Amino acid sequence: MAKLINGTKISNDIKNEIKEEVKELERIKGIKPGLGVILVGENPASKVYVSSKQKGCEEVGFLSDAIKMPETATEAEVLKQIEIYNNRKDIHGILVQLPLPSQIDKIKVLEAISPLKDVDGFHPVNIGKLVAQEDGFVPATPAGIIEMLKREGITIKGRNATMVGHSEIVGKPCALLLLNEWATVTVCHIETRDLKMHTLNAEILVVAVGKPYLIKEDMVKDGVVIIDVGINRITTDKASPELLSWRKSDFDVKGATLIGDVDFQKIEPKASAITPVPGGVGPMTIAMLLKNTLKSAKIFAQLK
Ligand code: NAP
Repeated sequence: MAKLINGTKISNDIKNEIKEEVKELERIKGIKPGLGVILVGENPASKVYVSSKQKGCEEVGFLSDAIKMPETATEAEVLKQIEIYNNRKDIHGILVQLPLPSQIDKIKVLEAISPLKDVDGFHPVNIGKLVAQEDGFVPATPAGIIEMLKREGITIKGRNATMVGHSEIVGKPCALLLLNEWATVTVCHIETRDLKMHTLNAEILVVAVGKPYLIKEDMVKDGVVIIDVGINRITTDKASPELLSWRKSDFDVKGATLIGDVDFQKIEPKASAITPVPGGVGPMTIAMLLKNTLKSAKIFAQLK
């Protein structure tokens, strides 16, 4: 049986550590870390993400501020709000919830955020720092993956790591972080010819694609460490009989369940360690976003 990597517990540990540091920062410097979030439009998933980020801020004692703009907001209006946050002394971290409506250029918006307050780590300056191995802000989800591996005492150095998915927010930064930790990294994407060949070679397999059951039992070797980033909502009508019985309580109560990209039930017995979905990588993302905001506040307070 694999060791279950409990992201909820690790993220609570991190939040408790942050809480203590926040008290200390307030005591020594009179500064409370502040996160400013810009939400444009009515995307229901985005609303949920923003409210859980705000809840996270409250939990650890941060100031949390949100600007909610209508779906019709112009690029200039969004840029104006970013400028206000860039100049506010009480806001140390800024994030613009993605996706943005089509009339707004995502790149222009992300590049308008001060790199010093870019706690999502999407600004080219911070991406460059990640490549150059300089201190900057690292995107929260991949940072959370490395943090989990380290806190679980899983060796990264020298191991074969396969990253499936090469998105800007998860796959690419995660591959770089693994490389910076001296793993031998393979990155797979939609054009990869023989995915199984690369996943079978992995001692650490990170999957961030968004396709349920993409990774099957015969695609991994014994003893592999699996980090499943995927989040797929499966409704009762689309669920297999196995899933319906495994997640019966979810289907009974919610009519749907969340699963990852990995066939958890079949792969778990082969793995040495594995993250569940939900309760694996998901909770780590907010914890690392808060950690980035605290880091920014400490830099502003000249404590780092
Ligand atoms: P994304 O931008 O859609 O990227 C998916 C990646 O998978 C792309 O690089 C895509 O390649 C690749 N891909 C698609 N089909 C593939 C295949 N058959 N074989 C190999 N690679 C394939 O998604 P994302 O933002 O990275 O998110 C991925 C998943 O993680 C989603 O389920 C998302 O909900 C979840 N997620 C979870 C968290 C969390 O906090 N737990 C955070 C972020 C994302 P191409 O670009 O070449 O098509």
